[in-house]
Amino acid sequence: MNENTILIVEDEAAIRDMLKIILEQAGFKTLLAEEAASAQIQLTDHSPDLIVLDWMLPGISGVDWARRLKKDASYSEIPIILLTARGEEEDKVRGLEIGADDYITKPFSPKELIARIRAVLRRVGKLSGSTQISLGDITLDTEQHRITIGNRHLDVSPTEFRLMHFLMTHPDKVFSRTQLLDQVWGRSVYIDERTVDVHILRLRKILAEFGKEDVVQTVRGFGYRFSLQ
Ligand code: CA
Repeated sequence: MNENTILIVEDEAAIRDMLKIILEQAGFKTLLAEEAASAQIQLTDHSPDLIVLDWMLPGISGVDWARRLKKDASYSEIPIILLTARGEEEDKVRGLEIGADDYITKPFSPKELIARIRAVLRRVGKLSGSTQISLGDITLDTEQHRITIGNRHLDVSPTEFRLMHFLMTHPDKVFSRTQLLDQVWGRSVYIDERTVDVHILRLRKILAEFGKEDVVQTVRGFGYRFSLQ
């Protein structure tokens, strides 16, 4: 049973109602808002697991509101799927640049929308009833504390598991060594930043046995990211 709550932000009543029906039939709970101001109230009061956000809204546009949320530490972890009537590549890039987790162009099939929502929730480890995060053929199971590729499991230390978990729940985003230390090791401990490099190197070495060392990428002058691209 899927009990994830999705906030739908769409000013066109017909589309909003259609989205509500599609999502509820798929087993999600829904919250509805017509524009960003009322969506903000729903967000504060009900902490949804994901936001389906229309790009074109009266007042604050969907893309501007998404940008604000992604800069706000209280909300930045909530995944956002942007909806738009426009399908230009430039918009897609802009949407993903401001931190949207995925992007879907109207008209879309209900099946596609549900698949995208489930994929994003699974990726961030929020899909109800699921303890797995899968990116490509790499699967991380938080309950079993295991990372697998195909049927084989990776021999990682608890620290490397936490590092991989953090990176896999934030794909394509770049983190500095300091950010990784804060997020994976915790703020209270003092550890040299080179420790991060050591663990990244070990992770890559393990991943290399599967030909997957390229997923943990170095961004010169800044830090590291997990990406399948
Ligand atoms: Ca609209």
